[in-house]
Amino acid sequence: MKRHRLRRLCCLALALALAALPGCGGRESVPQTEYTRYTVQFYDTFDTVIQVIGYTETQEEFEGYADAIHNRFIELSRLYDRFYEYTGINNIRTINLNAGIQPVEVEEEILDMLEFAKEWCEKSDGRVNIAMGPVLEVWHGYMAAYAGTTVEPGPGVLPTQEELEAATAHTDLSKVIIDREAGTVFLEEEGMMLDVGAVAKGYAAQVVADEIYEAGFHSFIISAGGNVVTKDPPLDGIRDSWGIGIQDPFADPNDPSATSLDVVFVENLSVVTSGDYQRFYMVGDRRIHHIIDPETLQPADRYRSLTIVTDDSGLGDFLSTCLFVMDYEEGRALAEELGVEALWVFPDGEVTYTDGLLPMLRDRGGATAAIGQ
Ligand code: AMP
Ligand code: MG
Repeated sequence: MKRHRLRRLCCLALALALAALPGCGGRESVPQTEYTRYTVQFYDTFDTVIQVIGYTETQEEFEGYADAIHNRFIELSRLYDRFYEYTGINNIRTINLNAGIQPVEVEEEILDMLEFAKEWCEKSDGRVNIAMGPVLEVWHGYMAAYAGTTVEPGPGVLPTQEELEAATAHTDLSKVIIDREAGTVFLEEEGMMLDVGAVAKGYAAQVVADEIYEAGFHSFIISAGGNVVTKDPPLDGIRDSWGIGIQDPFADPNDPSATSLDVVFVENLSVVTSGDYQRFYMVGDRRIHHIIDPETLQPADRYRSLTIVTDDSGLGDFLSTCLFVMDYEEGRALAEELGVEALWVFPDGEVTYTDGLLPMLRDRGGATAAIGQ
């Protein structure tokens, strides 16, 4: 893996457009030539590409941080894994396998994440429900069977409504028992199953970013799939924020010249997007994607994508999924109440966003791209 990574380590790598974008002006330019930009990617955690871009004085320093980040992502992705078991580890899969049988002793990282997720699920009125595993598992099976059928008209098949409804029998969040003192998690009914896909990756990205910042790595971004965490401004002496591209859901993902929907300029904030283009298959001309509305048990179809900008990537991950299944007025009210910024892309191409986001958006006239200002 190290070889894998080192091969990609290159201070001029342009793998993602995001960090190459100029930040908004305001701060006087102070050349800080002692810092160099490095980047690295790894592919073996959370079923996604993780990219780290950061500024350090030496390559060795960056490599040390990159190794620590990589190792921590490996640990957390194993703990939060619901598909595979790992020797000597009790993870989400272990908890699921013991549903209705016994509490499972788990690491603090699992207790922390599940407590966080459960609390927010309760606040979301069940729009996001980590105990909805049995329903999501049905969709997952169909998704896996038709993986790769992403062109129209797709030959995919849908589960029946009966099949989906039967799966709701064991999805009661209040039966997820987290015992902090005993250090255990228990799913009280046989047939229950946790699915933490809506929150675990963003939660882990924040944990890793906070830990490595504490360890002395300042000025970096971690991009984990649709979850980006930024720490301090880029130390290039030019920019005072990181430019994060928001993917255009209407663009061809295989087109290297496709442009972003917009670029959001941030520092010490996280940008998280949920979209119907991330995981899907086609049934005729219908796009069957991975975010399920618990009311209909069908893929939510209100938006093409939903982006949240907030200071916590775990919350951003949770809310991007949550607002994706919420009615617009209600979702907007929730974002405003929580003081987070959000951007909605509707199926007809309309884009709306919270007022506080405008100053951060390049193409919508808020932020001005200005190198050296
Ligand atoms: P995200 O890409 O963060 O929006 O998360 C999508 C993932 O969350 C899916 O792949 C499922 O694992 C899970 N998921 C989808 N819909 C829901 C829901 N309504 N409640 C809880 N988890 C969900
Ligand atoms: Mg999410």
